Amino acid sequence: MPTLEFTYAGLPERFFERTTPTPVAAPRLIKLNLSLAEKLGLDADRLRSPEGLDVLSGSRIPDDMQAVAQAYAGHQFGNFVPQLGDGRALLLGEAIDADGVRRDLQLKGSGPTRFSRGGDGRAAIGPVLREYIVSEAMHALGMPTTRSLAAVATGEPVYREHRLPGAVLTRVAASHIRIGTFQYFAARGDTDGIRTLADYAIARHYPDAAAGDQPYLRLLESVIAAQARLVARWMLVGFIHGVMNTDNMTISGETIDYGPCAFMDDFDPNKVFSSIDQQGRYAFANQPNIAVWNLARFAETLLPLLHEDPDEALKIAEGALKTFKEHYEPVFHGGLRDKLGLATEADEDTQLISDLFALMASQKTDFTLTFRGLGGELDGEGDGARMLFSDPAAFDQWAERWHARIAREPQHDAGRLERMRAANPKYIPRNHRIEEAIRAAEDHGDFAPFEELVAVLAKPFDEQPDKARYAAPPEAHELVLRTFCGT
Ligand code: AMP
Ligand code: MG
Ligand code: MG
Repeated sequence: MPTLEFTYAGLPERFFERTTPTPVAAPRLIKLNLSLAEKLGLDADRLRSPEGLDVLSGSRIPDDMQAVAQAYAGHQFGNFVPQLGDGRALLLGEAIDADGVRRDLQLKGSGPTRFSRGGDGRAAIGPVLREYIVSEAMHALGMPTTRSLAAVATGEPVYREHRLPGAVLTRVAASHIRIGTFQYFAARGDTDGIRTLADYAIARHYPDAAAGDQPYLRLLESVIAAQARLVARWMLVGFIHGVMNTDNMTISGETIDYGPCAFMDDFDPNKVFSSIDQQGRYAFANQPNIAVWNLARFAETLLPLLHEDPDEALKIAEGALKTFKEHYEPVFHGGLRDKLGLATEADEDTQLISDLFALMASQKTDFTLTFRGLGGELDGEGDGARMLFSDPAAFDQWAERWHARIAREPQHDAGRLERMRAANPKYIPRNHRIEEAIRAAEDHGDFAPFEELVAVLAKPFDEQPDKARYAAPPEAHELVLRTFCGT
């Protein structure tokens, strides 16, 4: 492991806890993300070496490196917890990637820290593989997301409901600063801490905000815009995050925390997978509202920086929160027009789109295949969407309006089908395939299904004719109804 930079460890000591990792019995590499390692300028052979595996399993940190657990707070399902923090994660430092972007390297599952609150600080192999699969799939789908550099088996058991093999994930992120990080200082009345963190976040993520005379308002607006665009993009692929607590929403606008997340199979706006989300707080269609709620909590932490008069500060914050829609709607509606093959905008589009969603919901068609199948309806090649509807007459009526709408588009749009294919993935990380890969690894130490799934999901928009089973929705006996917080 080369020496990493570490600007976060240069922040005041109360931002984190310096931590020594806990050695594990027998670190063994499960997966190294070669292209990501290369992008980060890290030498794959060194990462794979015994010394590299010591680092990637959190067993030993070389003398020229340090490891810190970050402090943060957060609203979990609406309830404020003043201290959460990295209970099983360690930040190792930062690498500058090929695009010149500073990226955190963080271990997850590397043992207890001051923030473990009774937890064991460990991760089971299932959630580690799950995060690897889904985060890399999200990246391939073009979503802002944390990524996975490596998965290493620890050779030690972890005890959940059953005894399970343990593993450590190395996560790469634009940073691990969350709304909850700001809340940690706000809860302590530590305005200096908030200002220091805000300055750091501006320098790292939104350097343009520093230029004007209201850098903290610009920061707030930038985070609102980034999260609005992110959630709009989740909505375009049927992604349900599952645990949008304020400690799981990043200031950078990257998706983080792949615990109970899931992609929908059949479309249901109220779909919830997470076993602990009994009220449906984080249901699919509620995600934009929750994002606004979370951003309001972020805005509250910044109030002392926005204006010395609290009433004025509140007004400024409220004004900023109103801009969420301005960023959300163009991405969401523009994305839907791409999915439907529309290059121009017409008044009737909103109705056309909401009628399609209503039809999909009432006939429970597969979210991904319905949109992908629209391309097939146009060119007559491949599987169309029509056959997914149990009442095809209702689809035909809708399709007639859609064809009429397309007929009013500029002529000779040779790129339409290609654009539709690039907007409508064929391969998403379906729950039943993730479960299948985890079962094989957990029960038989067989990582072939995991490897194949990762490879297929790296090209979500391409036709992969011999990989049809990965595009197919689950059979009744394969359905996964519940997901669990990453344990
Ligand atoms: P999450 O639900 O993943 O957002 O985690 C919420 C909080 O619980 C964070 O502070 C985690 O660090 C902590 N946590 C989750 N699992 C463990 C564990 N096995 N040991 C210690 N802390 C944990
Ligand atoms: Mg979390
Ligand atoms: Mg989690």
